Amino acid sequence: MPDLAQDRMLLPTYEFKQDLIDAIREHAFLVIIGETGSGKTTQIPQYILEEMPEIKKIGVTQPRRIAAITVSKRVSEEQVTSLGKEVGYTIRFDDRTSSTTRLKYMTDGILLREAVQDPMLNQYSVVIVDEAHERTLETDVLFGLLKQTHRLRPDLKILVMSATLDVEKFSDFFDECPIFEIPGRTFPVQIVHHQSMKIQSLKSNFVSTAVETAFYIHTTEKSGDILVFLTGQADIERACQEFGDKCKELNYSRDVKYYEAEYRDDDVRDVAIYPLYASLETMEQRAVFEPARPGKRKVVFATNVAQTSVTIPGIKYVVDSGFVKEKSYDPNTGMDALLVTSISQAAATQRAGRAGRTAPGKAYRLYSSDSYDHMPPDTVPEIQRSSLLSTVLALKRMNIVDILHFEFIDKPDETLVMKALTQLFLLGAIDHNGVITDLGKQMNSFPLSPYLSRVIVSSAIEHECSEEVLTIASVLAGDHDLFRAPSPRQGEDVVAEAEKCKLKLAHHTGDHMTVLNVWRTWRDNDESKRWSRDNWVNHKALVTAKSVRSQLIDIMKDLKLPLVRARRIEIEKSGRKKDGRSRETVREVDAVPILKSFLTGYYTNVANKATGRSVFSHYSPDQHFGEKTSHSSSALVALHLHPLCALSDMFDRNKTKYSQIDWVMYMQVTYTNKAVMKGVSKILLDWVRSGKGHERIRQLASANLNGESAKITSKKRKQLLADDSTPASSAESSDT
Ligand code: ADP
Ligand code: MG
Repeated sequence: MPDLAQDRMLLPTYEFKQDLIDAIREHAFLVIIGETGSGKTTQIPQYILEEMPEIKKIGVTQPRRIAAITVSKRVSEEQVTSLGKEVGYTIRFDDRTSSTTRLKYMTDGILLREAVQDPMLNQYSVVIVDEAHERTLETDVLFGLLKQTHRLRPDLKILVMSATLDVEKFSDFFDECPIFEIPGRTFPVQIVHHQSMKIQSLKSNFVSTAVETAFYIHTTEKSGDILVFLTGQADIERACQEFGDKCKELNYSRDVKYYEAEYRDDDVRDVAIYPLYASLETMEQRAVFEPARPGKRKVVFATNVAQTSVTIPGIKYVVDSGFVKEKSYDPNTGMDALLVTSISQAAATQRAGRAGRTAPGKAYRLYSSDSYDHMPPDTVPEIQRSSLLSTVLALKRMNIVDILHFEFIDKPDETLVMKALTQLFLLGAIDHNGVITDLGKQMNSFPLSPYLSRVIVSSAIEHECSEEVLTIASVLAGDHDLFRAPSPRQGEDVVAEAEKCKLKLAHHTGDHMTVLNVWRTWRDNDESKRWSRDNWVNHKALVTAKSVRSQLIDIMKDLKLPLVRARRIEIEKSGRKKDGRSRETVREVDAVPILKSFLTGYYTNVANKATGRSVFSHYSPDQHFGEKTSHSSSALVALHLHPLCALSDMFDRNKTKYSQIDWVMYMQVTYTNKAVMKGVSKILLDWVRSGKGHERIRQLASANLNGESAKITSKKRKQLLADDSTPASSAESSDT
C-alpha cells in the first residue's frame, strides 16, 4: 500500500508550498512554471484547498479529457475522499461533481461553455488554466475572457500553469504578472538520432519502425519502461498488436533457448503492453499508471497525451516517431481536417524529457539530427491553424460582437476569422450584421460542432426525423469508429468474416443510415456486448453514444425542440425463395429526410465521383453562381473513401454499384498520405441546390459579418455581461 501523503512531500512543488500560497494571496494573476511531473497539476490546487479556507471553489482546466479524469481521480485519492464529492471532474457528456465539490478539474472547453452561461464565473474563487503551453484553441480564448472577467471581478484569482520556459508571453498578456518558477528535478537524457532517416521518408512506415525500435530496446537495454509516441488510436492499436506478436515469438524462442544471449538484463523478459489515447475507457487507462510487476517491463504506446498532460511513472526509454496528429484548417472544405504531421523541436524536447523523470534515460528519435534541425522551433498555436467556428459562435453568444478586435494572446489569422464568420452565416447562426440568430443560440446550446448542431435542429423542425438523427449524431460525435477492423495477421478467414458482418449491417446509402442500422440491431439484441463482438461492432462506441444521446435529448427538451420519428416507407425487396424469385414489401425508415437534415449542416462538404475511379472531387457550391468567392480555389481535390466506409465495401464487392454513386456528402477528412473522407453518404445534388443554405451563399456579398460597425463600450459590455439574458441586437450595441 503506497503512502500517498508521503509521496506528496517528495514532489518538487512541496518545498514551495508556503511561498506559492503567499504569492497566490498577493496577486490576482500568477504564472507558474515547472517541469512536467513536478506536481503542478495535482498538488498546487490541493495546497489552495488545504491552506486557503477563504477560497470557495477552484476550477482547473486541462486541454485533454483523459487528463481531467486521471488527475481528479489521483487527487481525490490523495485527499482520501471519493471522486465527485470534494474533488470532481467535468468533461463533455460526463459530469462527476456535486454541490460539495470545491476542486473541479475540467476541460478548457467546459469552462468556455460555462463562461457563455455566466461570464462572471461566479461559482469560482480561483481559476487555474493548466498546461497553458499546449495553447489549445479553448485555452487561448479563455485567456482573453478571463482577462475581461477579471476587470469586472477583481477578486477572482487567475493562475496560469505551464511546462515550458517560454512564459514571458503569458506574463505580458496578464498585465506583466509575476512568474513563479519551480526548479525541476530531472536526470540527463541521452538522445539517439537515426543516422540518416529523413522525416519525410519516415512518414509511410513510422509505426513499424517505432515497433522495431521498441523491440530493440526491450531486447538490448537494461530494465526500465518504454514510452513510444505515435499519432492516434489506429496506429497505436496496430503497434500494440505487432509488438505483442514479436514478443510472443521471442518468448517461444527463449523457451527453446535461442535468444537467451540477447538479454542483457534477466529482470525484464516479460512485457506489459499498454495503449494510451484519449478515447480509451477510463479503466483501461488506469492500469498504465501502476508500476509494472517485478520482472516485467511496461511498454506504452501513446499519443501526444503523454507528452505533457499525464505523467507515467517509471519511463526510462522514449521512442519518438516524430509525428503527431493535429487539427488543421482545411481551406478546401472550410472545416478542420486531421493531419498527421511532423512535430516541432519543442515537442521533441518534451518527448525526450519523459525519459529522465526518475533516473537517467535515453530517447530514440526515429529521424536524423538533420531532420530535427529543420523542424519548426515551436508548435503553431491551435488558434492559428484551426477552423474558428465554435469559438466565434461562443464569442458571439457572449455578445462579443467584434471578433477581430477581441483580446487574443496571439491573434488568429484574419482570414480564418472571416472564414468562420462566413460559415456561421451560411449555417444561419449569425445574420447579415454578424449578430447571433435564435438558431445560432440553439446551436450553441449543444456541446457539438455547429455543423452537427445545425443538423439536429433541422431534423427537429424541418425534416421531422430528430429521433433517428439524434441517434446517428450521438454515434458520430464520439471519437470511436463504429466497426472494428481485424488485423490482417488474424488470417483471411477472420477478415472475410468481419467483412461479411459489416456488409450485412451496411445501408446502401452509406454511413449515416448504416449507423442507424447498427444501433437498431444492437437494441434488438438487448444491447449485448456479445452481439457487438460477434458482429465486429465497437461496443464502446454504442454504449457511449447511448449516454450522449440521452444528454442531447435533455438539451432538446430545454430548447423545446420536438423529438419526432422519421416516416416509414414501403420498399419492395426481391428475394429468392425455394420455388423461384419472389417479391415482398418491407417497411423501412425513409433515408431521404435524414440525409437532407445532415446536408443542412454539411452542404459545403459535398463531392462528386471522378469518372471511373474511386476518387472524388470536392464541390464548391459557389462555383455554381459563377462568382469567385471564398471557396472557389478548391475546385478539385482528390478525396478517397475511408476503408471502413459503408460505401467502400460496395466498391470492392460489386463494381456495378460503384457506377451508381454520383454525389456524396462527407463529415470529416483525414490526411496522412492522401485525403480520406469519413462519414460518407450518397446524396442528390438537387437536395443541395434546393436547400436553404445554398441560397445564403448568394446573400453573402451584402453581409457585414464581423460587426465591427457595432462596437460596444466597456460600460455597455459590463451591462451585457451582467445580464446575459439581454439579446444582442445591432440597435442596442451601436452606442459608440
Ligand atoms: P505536473 O502537473 O507538474 O506535470 P503532476 O501534478 O501531474 O505534475 O504529477 C506529479 C506526480 O504525481 C507525477 O510525477 C506522478 O508521479 C504522480 N501522478 C500524477 N498523476 C498520477 C496518477 N494518476 N497515478 C499515479 N501517479 C500520478
Ligand atoms: Mg500538469
